[in-house]
Amino acid sequence: MSMNSVNSKLVKDAGHIAGEWCQADSGATIAVYNPATGEQLGQVPDMGINETRAAIDAASKALANWSAVAPKERARLLRCWFDLIIEHKEDLARLMTLEQGKPLFETRGEVLYGASYVEWYAEEGKRAYGKVFAAPTADKRALSIQQPIGVVAAITPWNFPNAMITRKVAPALAAGCTVVLKPSEETPFSALALMALAEQAGIPAGVINMITSSQAAAVGKVLTDDSRVRKLSFTGSTRVGKLLYGQSADTVKKLSLELGGNAPFIVFDDADLDAAVAGAVISKFRNAGQTCVCANRILVQDGIHDAFVARFKQAVEQLVVGNGLDDSSTLGPVINQAAIDKIAGMVDKAQSEGASLVTGGQRHPAGELFFAPTILTGVTQQMEIARQEIFGPVAPVIRFKDDAEAIAIANDTPYGLAAYFFTESHSRIWKVAEALEYGMVGINEGILSNEIAPFGGVKESGLGREGSSQGLEDYMETKYLCMGGIR
Ligand code: NAP
Repeated sequence: MSMNSVNSKLVKDAGHIAGEWCQADSGATIAVYNPATGEQLGQVPDMGINETRAAIDAASKALANWSAVAPKERARLLRCWFDLIIEHKEDLARLMTLEQGKPLFETRGEVLYGASYVEWYAEEGKRAYGKVFAAPTADKRALSIQQPIGVVAAITPWNFPNAMITRKVAPALAAGCTVVLKPSEETPFSALALMALAEQAGIPAGVINMITSSQAAAVGKVLTDDSRVRKLSFTGSTRVGKLLYGQSADTVKKLSLELGGNAPFIVFDDADLDAAVAGAVISKFRNAGQTCVCANRILVQDGIHDAFVARFKQAVEQLVVGNGLDDSSTLGPVINQAAIDKIAGMVDKAQSEGASLVTGGQRHPAGELFFAPTILTGVTQQMEIARQEIFGPVAPVIRFKDDAEAIAIANDTPYGLAAYFFTESHSRIWKVAEALEYGMVGINEGILSNEIAPFGGVKESGLGREGSSQGLEDYMETKYLCMGGIR
């Protein structure tokens, strides 16, 4: 099955600048492949420096009008975009499975999850408030107003090709900002389909501009060097996030950085075993282990270790590996050859360092980019697999004795995005939740992200929050007004 199964209105093979669908100046293109089959799905323009400058020009030009549109009208347009996304959810899901690989039940979930940010910020944009302060002297009045930051550059990854875009674009637009977006070259079609629906919703020309490119570093440099771009919102690896952080210093941009993670998933002796196993499976194997909040290390207390591993093995062996378009599949391929080679290398290295294989451990016959769901036990915090983001369907299990040891292992990483733990003790819930150095903590829960909550990390996992009212504030500046001479 190919792109023919998707509504042709949503299949765009052009970038979008100043309200026009356009090709690269050079005519160059990037091929996009289905990771489940290796089939070429189509191609998109390989844009570069000039097109990125043109997109910034367009966003700057559109800014004055868009920021002057009443928040209620911006909300109406966002709501219209939301309705169109929902109307086309099946096509968007199919398109995403084709270019990204995850099973249809997951892409259907991501389309709804992505749309929830558009709906939320359509509502939240109407509730951006200023403040009136108690003035220090009788002849003064002091207040603050909230204003859009300006032109926003957004750079997004391939693992959530829809939601990572709506999570940035919807609050930016609700706040009155305009956007230049560069999606990942691995998954541009989902981004362009969202663009087509935004255009249909009536979002004016130049408010959202999209650059597809294989020259991420060059495009990123134009976006960070341009002083008209007042904010950069990036989701991706910590390595690239640090690079963009440095590049943004010269123009002192506001930054939102949603970077990598190394999530601990802690199972205490008193955990509900069924809930812990179900939570570990969903947290670890969703999107074939390619989420930033994936359980990266499964820490299990001595007393429950063997029972947990036995049940976890049973559950993992029930995962159905296969093409995501097949409704029975629950585990799809990883994104590309480099990813599968890295995962296979990490699993081999962990075994050479002393870890034991419980299940899986090798590539899966379903196709070149499929890896069998894998559990390793006897992993220690010193091994590479416990220190690096795996980004694949591999669960390393670390055994621990007591709460202090679990917390020490959990925090022994430069990352601080998501953490999870399972316990039935309310004292432990508070003590452990407070001790974990993470931006988000799932307590007896393997899935924690939604539009109402502030999503983001601490330490080297990033800056800022997406979702919630905080996600809107991150696209606004506070301006203080001091009025004197009041008699
Ligand atoms: P990545 O290599 O950092 O790429 C992310 C985006 O940055 C892509 O659009 C990429 O373009 C672009 N890029 C690459 N090099 C760049 C440069 N020098 N300058 C400007 N842009 C550049 O990350 P990825 O492999 O796509 O995504 C996986 C990573 O994202 C993981 O570390 C994961 O944890 C993280 N992530 C974090 C969150 C979060 O919310 N914290 C959510 C999802 C993913 P191309 O793809 O076209 O090269």
